Amino acid sequence: MPHIIEKSLVGQRALVTGGNSGIGAAIALALAEAGARVAINYLSNVEEAQALVAEIQASGGEAITIQADVSQEDQVIAMFQQVIETWGSLDILVANAGIQQYAPFVDMTLAQWDSVMAVNLTGQFLCAREAVKEFLRRGVVPELSCATGKIVCTSSVHDIIPWAGHVNYAASKGGLLMFMKSLAQEVAHMKIRVNAVSPGAIRTPINRSAWETPEMEENLLKLIPYERIGDPADVAQAVVWLASDASDYVVGATLYIDGGMTLYPGFREGG
Ligand code: NAP
Repeated sequence: MPHIIEKSLVGQRALVTGGNSGIGAAIALALAEAGARVAINYLSNVEEAQALVAEIQASGGEAITIQADVSQEDQVIAMFQQVIETWGSLDILVANAGIQQYAPFVDMTLAQWDSVMAVNLTGQFLCAREAVKEFLRRGVVPELSCATGKIVCTSSVHDIIPWAGHVNYAASKGGLLMFMKSLAQEVAHMKIRVNAVSPGAIRTPINRSAWETPEMEENLLKLIPYERIGDPADVAQAVVWLASDASDYVVGATLYIDGGMTLYPGFREGG
């Protein structure tokens, strides 16, 4: 996989929710490599978060860890206060934290429904609201970016591909698609850019059961025209671009990073 990250974010301050693991960790590293100071939010895995901070610092970057549950309003508000107290403001939010809770529909408990909605959708709302408040308080800083602020939401191909057994997850990501677009429409005139990345199958702990044996991996590859499972860095490089002025005219867009999974590969032959 080609690795191309330019120093497009020097001086900017970024918060990555769920930044200790999988896609979020790759995003945190890539933002730091592009010159941003990075706050790494985690829920439970403090060791992973601290190891990332050490890795960023070893490369000459600046990073902090912040424990917070993105579904809890008081914790989200406190997390933003901590970033602002530390670095004066925030320029980039990557709202990435997300969970899956598999269950056949008739067995799905209200707790399984609620927990996925709380993290994947309410968490996006709470974090984006605090970010927009801070962007508006601070205004544009032309030497950092021509936008007042940037939000990148981590959605999923399941914002448009239905997913049996994951009705809660697909509903949360489908909701996120319209959340992102409606928010982008509302704040674009204030020079705040809101966009999303929608990953396909990326090799991370969240979907280990889909790739951990050769048979499972072979089955998964049938859904991916490009014939490889994605690497977290595939998503991270796109997030750096969406957070930078190189994408300044990209507003309310979803970038599918999926090796072609959304191209209906079943229709390649016949159909
Ligand atoms: P992951 O490795 O399991 O990471 C999930 C992250 O979310 C972890 O950092 C976790 O923190 C954090 N988190 C969970 N609940 C939280 C909460 N209540 N508050 C704050 N943080 C919380 O999975 P991943 O694959 O990187 O997933 C990242 C995002 O990508 C998710 O939104 C997911 O839906 C999306 N996505 C992934 C794929 C894929 O193929 N991997 C495809 C499409 C979309 P702790 O580790 O501390 O619990």
